[in-house]
Amino acid sequence: YNHKRDGKRHAENFLHQKVADYKAHPIVVEKSTSVYDAIVQLFLEDVGTLYAVDGLGHLAGVISRKDLLRTAIGSNNLHELPVSVIMTRMPNIITIEPQETLLQAAKKLIENHIDSLPVVKEVENQRNTYLLVGRITKTTITRAYLEIMDEKSG
Ligand code: ADP
Repeated sequence: YNHKRDGKRHAENFLHQKVADYKAHPIVVEKSTSVYDAIVQLFLEDVGTLYAVDGLGHLAGVISRKDLLRTAIGSNNLHELPVSVIMTRMPNIITIEPQETLLQAAKKLIENHIDSLPVVKEVENQRNTYLLVGRITKTTITRAYLEIMDEKSG
């Protein structure tokens, strides 16, 4: 019984899994939402990153925990300030598509020093215009890894 080969097979299996099969629900706010309400939302949904959409529902920005912390210590009216002022905006958002692999997702997370990726579908004939269909985080990838490595014992 070759444990080493078995481990390798599972590792390859893991890396080739599709984003579509492991993505989580994206937590979304309107880009006009106040920073205060975004912070409340972050706690209510128990996530580390929020995604902002415009009036058409297209991805407009990413708001991380530290974006909110930085604003909270530096601004005095969090109720008036919209998240659109502090978010990381298109076209600077690193995205991933459902048919890409977990390996591609892991590389994007590590190379860009970020915790999450919005899973998107590009709107036809509109460059840099995306519909949000999910999110991939370091937690998602760790969970997928555990599930696949666990199958070995079953
Ligand atoms: P935190 O800032 O809480 O440590 P991240 O490491 O994910 O969380 O975010 C670091 C910075 O990168 C933040 O300013 C955030 O807006 C931005 N960011 C997060 N995710 C993305 C992404 N997918 N594409 C582009 N920028 C991102």
